[in-house]
Formats: sequence, structure tokens, C-alpha cells
Amino acid sequence: MSLTVVGSIAFDSVRTPFGERDRMLGGSAVHFALAAGFFTRVHVVGPVGEDFGAAEMEVLVERGVETADVERVAGGETFFWRGHYEHDMNLAHTDDTRLNVFADFEPKLSDASRTADTLFLGNIQPDLQRRVRSECGAARLTALDSMNLWIETTRPSLVAAIAEVEVLLLNDAELRMLVSEPNLARAAAAAMALGPRVVVAKRGEYGAALFTPEVQFAIPGYLLEDVRDPTGAGDSFAGGFLGYLDGAAAYELDEDHLRRAMAFGSVMASFNVEDFGIERIRRLTHEEIGERLREFKRLSHFDEPQVPAGGGARTG
Ligand code: AMP
Repeated sequence: MSLTVVGSIAFDSVRTPFGERDRMLGGSAVHFALAAGFFTRVHVVGPVGEDFGAAEMEVLVERGVETADVERVAGGETFFWRGHYEHDMNLAHTDDTRLNVFADFEPKLSDASRTADTLFLGNIQPDLQRRVRSECGAARLTALDSMNLWIETTRPSLVAAIAEVEVLLLNDAELRMLVSEPNLARAAAAAMALGPRVVVAKRGEYGAALFTPEVQFAIPGYLLEDVRDPTGAGDSFAGGFLGYLDGAAAYELDEDHLRRAMAFGSVMASFNVEDFGIERIRRLTHEEIGERLREFKRLSHFDEPQVPAGGGARTG
């Protein structure tokens, strides 16, 4: 079992109603890798600039993430994103995006990254996602995430990238935007028509919904009292979801594994939002994950009920 991720490796400046941070370690590939790294061997592919220090790299290394394909570009600057959240923290407002070293990045994958069983094309320019996809021809499980910026500016490339993966993960609003369909179930069906056989709509604090041609499954978000920064929650969800599937070698995507993967995704996202950036996931333990999975099952489980007949209702 092993998993390769390409996506942004970033410095993020973020403001939420609960505080702000300047240039903290972030990026779709980083949030994803730190979550998935609990469950499987993860290889990160992507460039960083000279401003990316040993301390940042160490955060990945201490989680056991493979960084051989994190390329340091001489004279370059690391991807930078600035954003803020209002009281409704389900919606990120982008104030600045600087691709920097991603602008002309040519991925060169090591054999270990190229031959991974699972490939996650994290949120980044879709042509770059496609280049990495074409290098990893042998992957048994492939998935992709994206965002409104790429839907608005590079839709044809994004649609082509989506056609080349089995699992599409998007925010619910972005899924609706991608296929111009306001109803979520219809939007998922329209997205499946583009190629993927599994579509996961991430719904912020409300959890996530999974669609295949045969299965519909919805899971809540874990109900937290302290939510400080949702940045990276979507990638932590994807890291829990795919990290679990790869770690369990569930490449067939059967329903039982998909349902459990949704629980792992939701639980990893719930940890992510408890503190700024990667801070909570960085100090997370396996024991805490197990504990929260059990609590999460209690909170969302009910036995199959008998429907009471009611006072005057006709039966039979
Ligand atoms: P999310 O998991 O959806 O909250 O994603 C948060 C991460 O996405 C942040 O750490 C940002 O660095 C990264 N990000 C924001 N905009 C972009 C973009 N246009 N391309 C790639 N990554 C981005």
C-alpha cells in the first residue's frame, strides 16, 4: 500500500473570527499528507521555494511522509494563499493566490511515487494534475479535488482531468457550480457522467455525501464546540478518506469500505478545524482518532426502527 499526492505546498495567511496567522504551513498536499500519513505510506510531489525551511519539511518527515519528490526551486518562492472566513466558516474567501514556483513546475516523479497504488490529485492547476496522472498509469485508485478558481478559469482542463479519475471530491457548492445544477443528487449524477464512478460532496460542518450509481450515503460532521480555522478541512477529509482506503487495500471501492472511508474523512476534518492550519493534526495521535471514530459512530447510529401506526392511521 502506498499513496502519491500532488497538490499545493503552501504558506497560508488566514483570518477567522477566532484569530489570524501569517504564513503558516499549508497547502492541499500538506493537509492531505498529514491526515493520510496516519494510515498509509504517503509520497508528496510538488515544488517549494527557497523560503521553505527545514522546520516546515520536518513537519512532513515526522509524520513519516516521503519528501524525496518535494523539489526546492533555487531562487523561487513557495505557493502563497491568503484568505479569510466570516462567521459562516463553511465558505472560504480568497484574498490572494500566488502560484510562484507552481507557475512553471514540471513534475519529475521518482519510481516510488510513480508506482504508488493510490493517487490523489489535490487541488492545483488541472493541467498539472493531468501530467501527474499520466505518469502514474498503474495506480489502482485515483481521486481528484479542485476548487472554484479552476472551475472558473480552466474548466475544459479540469473536466479532462476529472474524466481520468475514479473518485471526485468537491465542496457541495463547487460541485453544483461545476455542472451548473443546483440539486446536489442531480449534480452528483452529472459529475459521474464526466467519468468518475464515485462522487463525494463535502459539506463543511454538515459532513459529506457520497454518490455512486448504486449507493447514496450521507455522514454528518462531528459536532464540535470549538472550531477555530477550517483551512485544510477538505484536504484532511480527503486524506482520511483515501488514506483509509489505501491503508485497507480497498481498491475495489466496495460499499462497506466506502462508508467507513467517509467516517475517517469526517473525523480527520473535525480534528483539522480545532486549531489553525496544521497545528491540531500535527499533535494528533492514533488513539485520539480511534476514540473519536467510536464517539462518531455513537452520534450517528440508530437501529432500524418500527414505524408506529399512530392514532387514526390506517394499516394494511
Ligand atoms: P481546503 O482543504 O479546501 O480548506 O484547502 C485549503 C488549502 O488550499 C490551503 O492550505 C491553501 O494553501 C490551498 N489553496 C487555496 N487556493 C488554492 C489554489 N488555487 N490552488 C491550490 N491550492 C490552493
